[in-house]
Amino acid sequence: MQKKEELLSGLTYGPSEEAGTILVLYLNGDLESSVGDDELDDSDIEAIAELVERLKELDALQHDAERRGSEAKFDNALTLINEHLNRYTATPRLEAVRKLPVWEWGLCLVAKGKKPSRQSYQLWMSQLAVELVRSGRISYLKQCAQCGKWLFGLFAHQKFCKAYCKQQFHRLNPADKKRRADWARKDYWKRKRMNAR
Ligand SMILES: [Zn+2]
Repeated sequence: MQKKEELLSGLTYGPSEEAGTILVLYLNGDLESSVGDDELDDSDIEAIAELVERLKELDALQHDAERRGSEAKFDNALTLINEHLNRYTATPRLEAVRKLPVWEWGLCLVAKGKKPSRQSYQLWMSQLAVELVRSGRISYLKQCAQCGKWLFGLFAHQKFCKAYCKQQFHRLNPADKKRRADWARKDYWKRKRMNAR
């Protein structure tokens, strides 16, 4: 994994891994808390988390597109996202970052109005989230089923941020406990029957 500083130094609308990694840092509150003069706060993070969830719904609906009536649902989900984005006002700015031997170009959105640095950050995160939809990997971005931290999975069905969380989940989950207990009971009777023969 690239270092956080490296990720933040450039224009990073590139590969989805990079987008996923930056979004995870942001959503977990692990990015620098201070952006210019403004402080990032929980409501910023919640807004991006909400956007991610809505984009996931949209992503799920797009695969449903052949089904009758799903276009209306899709349009509705899209409208909700655009209403969500209405909170931002921005101007485009061309940025060039030297990545030897060439320059890398990007059109950034720079927020205007109240708290411009915070809002620019939000816009950047929104663009990264859309990048994940574009590359078909928005569903890889999720919260760990055990500790609730955000993760960007190596595959769509990854549920846990680390092996420890997976172990804890299976140790503590009641359904899992029941399954283990049932299995142990079944196994006990099976062995008992076999021994009785
Ligand atoms: Zn976890």
